Amino acid sequence: MRHLAILGSTGSIGTSTLEVVRAHPERLGVVALAAGRNRDLLKEQCETFRPRCVSVGSQEDAAWLRTNLSYRPELHWGNQGLLACVLDAAVDTVVAAIVGSVGLASTEAALRAGRRVCVANKEALVVGGALMHEAALAGGGELLPVDSEHAALHQLLDGRDRATLREVRITASGGPFRDWPLDRIQAATVEQALNHPTWKMGPKITIDSATLMNKGLEVIEAAVLFGLGPDQLSVTVHPQSQVHAMVGFHDGSYQLQVCANDMKLPIQYCLFHPDRQPGPVPAYSWDQARTWTFEPPDLERFPCLGLAFAALRAGGTAPALLNAANEVAVEAFLQGRLGFWDIQACNQDTLAGLPVTPLASLAQVLDADQAARRHAEGWVRARA
Ligand code: MG
Repeated sequence: MRHLAILGSTGSIGTSTLEVVRAHPERLGVVALAAGRNRDLLKEQCETFRPRCVSVGSQEDAAWLRTNLSYRPELHWGNQGLLACVLDAAVDTVVAAIVGSVGLASTEAALRAGRRVCVANKEALVVGGALMHEAALAGGGELLPVDSEHAALHQLLDGRDRATLREVRITASGGPFRDWPLDRIQAATVEQALNHPTWKMGPKITIDSATLMNKGLEVIEAAVLFGLGPDQLSVTVHPQSQVHAMVGFHDGSYQLQVCANDMKLPIQYCLFHPDRQPGPVPAYSWDQARTWTFEPPDLERFPCLGLAFAALRAGGTAPALLNAANEVAVEAFLQGRLGFWDIQACNQDTLAGLPVTPLASLAQVLDADQAARRHAEGWVRARA
């Protein structure tokens, strides 16, 4: 039996994780739930799963839960609350699904405390990947990637002799603007950018999918997770999102990982690894006709992908700078303060405008993150 803390329980990964839990009540138990602002859904989840430790974004919402829950769990709030959830003595597995670099400290603490951490928070890996490895090594924690492409790579690379590898590819759906001409992409609206063709996800990652920044962050994530260099990693656009990753060998042949595009699959894989349990969705069907297409990405129309490779090459704090700038730019775009094409411009300006230093500590990474946010916010204000 695995005893879970789910950070970000009301988001799309969190709710999918709870569906997996519901399908395996004898193998998965919920000890702790943490959410940000959605107190109504958190309350509902608490009543169903009865976690003994609960955390929410604000003190006010913690008090609200205290009066509105039909039982009395331990109640926490804010960043300290996230730590309380992962450090609860009964927790052995953490699903880290908080969006953005705010999830960094709790992910690190969980690894340092020897937990299995199923990481859906790609920012934690992009920004502080080396530090996450260190924490896992120091505390005996285990890092498993929930992101579909990385769960696919985990399956393809598990036990593989790396010397046989020539390259590693992750696929990209291409997002809603895959076949749009440049001038139309440049003028895209929030509504158009939020209309993702194959995945239903939160707003931040959906915008990142439209700019291909999401794929860029995933390239960095793959480099960190699997110890790969920028020249070993590539992206292939595959609009059907059925092949999630592929590895190429020196003899020119490839292995691909295939499954339905449902996040419950990689979540379940991470929770049960190295076991395989039935479900949570029907097995991939080869009894129907299917068409898969593949094409190279166009870096001119999707410059954010190129920026991510540049940040990976620069190393050190460069991925943290890019990630922070992008969080600010996407937020400003969603608020109507920036145009779609400004996102890449803001990211580029921040990456070029700030010094890159080697990664030494979490505090230093968070400093770089803050510096990049200030720079990007200044850029947004100047633009508005
Ligand atoms: Mg992904």
